[in-house]
Amino acid sequence: MAHEDYDNDEFYFYAKELSECCGARSMIVRSREGGFVTKNCIACGTPSYIKADDFPDIRCNVCQKLYVIQKHDGTNYYFVCTTCDAAAKVADVVPEWSEKFRRHGIAAFGDDLPNS
Ligand SMILES: [Zn+2]
Ligand SMILES: [Zn+2]
Repeated sequence: MAHEDYDNDEFYFYAKELSECCGARSMIVRSREGGFVTKNCIACGTPSYIKADDFPDIRCNVCQKLYVIQKHDGTNYYFVCTTCDAAAKVADVVPEWSEKFRRHGIAAFGDDLPNS
């Protein structure tokens, strides 16, 4: 499977911190249904958990102010514009991990790890 077709309508966000494993950029991806997101090393695909302050600076396309990263619903990360009172679920705007990384999965906190 080729993965060069990056020119579609999805957004690609990269974590501020480089991956611990390879020192490469980490793409923020949707890990599973329900809004859980991880950052996956683009060099080797290893996923890791992402913290709010590791999200890139993204501006609201309406008012151009920086989005705040918040767990708006208490569980999942959202890009929140406090000026426009708008929120976008991060998981809704990033690609699913399995579309880009087929070798690794990651379990959400509290989930049982699947038997491999
Ligand atoms: Zn890596
Ligand atoms: Zn705004």
